[in-house]
Amino acid sequence: MSENPHLTSQPRYRGRFAPSPTGPLHLGSLLAAVGSFLEARARQGQWLVRMEDIDPPREVAGASDLILRTLETYGLCWDESVLYQSTREEAYRDALDRLTQAELLYACQCSRKTIATTITEQGLPRHLYPGTCRQRPPRDRAGEALRILTDERSIHFTDGLQGRHSTHLPTEVGDFVLRRADGLYAYQLAVVVDDAEQGISHVVRGSDLLDSTPRQLYLQQQLGLASPDYLHLPVIVNTAGEKLSKQTAAPPLSLEHPIPALWNCLQALGQQPPRELLESDLDSFWAWSIRNWNPCTLPQQVKISQSALSTTQKSSTLR
Ligand code: GLU
Repeated sequence: MSENPHLTSQPRYRGRFAPSPTGPLHLGSLLAAVGSFLEARARQGQWLVRMEDIDPPREVAGASDLILRTLETYGLCWDESVLYQSTREEAYRDALDRLTQAELLYACQCSRKTIATTITEQGLPRHLYPGTCRQRPPRDRAGEALRILTDERSIHFTDGLQGRHSTHLPTEVGDFVLRRADGLYAYQLAVVVDDAEQGISHVVRGSDLLDSTPRQLYLQQQLGLASPDYLHLPVIVNTAGEKLSKQTAAPPLSLEHPIPALWNCLQALGQQPPRELLESDLDSFWAWSIRNWNPCTLPQQVKISQSALSTTQKSSTLR
């Protein structure tokens, strides 16, 4: 039982962490894992791990196993077996079939370059697909992507941290791709199908994915699926204001000394871990963190200096 006075028990809570195996975990991805884990565990919920390995060109050999080993080393123990998206092709194909039957999909052969040229020539908004193939479907079916038709609706939701959001589909999202021209399923489709399959009730992830949420809610509506609650955590940015990621050379997490990075994450999540916790073992660390987890003090953004980052890596300096 949670002793945390801020939280009430929700027996059906099912959260998840859904890394893409594009490289080792770093402090930014750990923050999302820790936030979603603590939200789930503090509510006596389940916490699942899903490996989003549906984009082989972006994947790094061995990254899936390394991510799972890192989670274990950090004491982030998951329930049930890991779901690998690479095994879920049939489910994604079924979802596309249902959308085809509902006449919601169309083939698109526009390259990025054609789209950019049309946008410039017609003075259209830069972030929207100009609808070329919606009006004039391609004759030749080779190398085509599948887009979903969006209608006039606005999507509203209240994020657990970022507050109320409204997105007008035709002016802010446009028709988006569900199967790419190279035949791979798009993240938006796979995530919606799998959140439903795994019975996820609460999605806690980084706020870099906030813009994806209206797309996912729209897809859930079109597929007749329940929508989970969403909470978008702050993302960690470096001193240059860039999100920590592989592209911004975020260092991989140490497998030897998990506690300093975990302690930094707790602090970045607005919690107040005592310094003694830096000397503790993983069991005591998680017991304290779950007992004292308070989502009301989550900040909306976290800036971390390079020195804090290297402190996380050279954990011996903190021990
Ligand atoms: N696989 C995505 C990522 O690593 C996260 C997807 C999600 O949490 O919805 O950025």
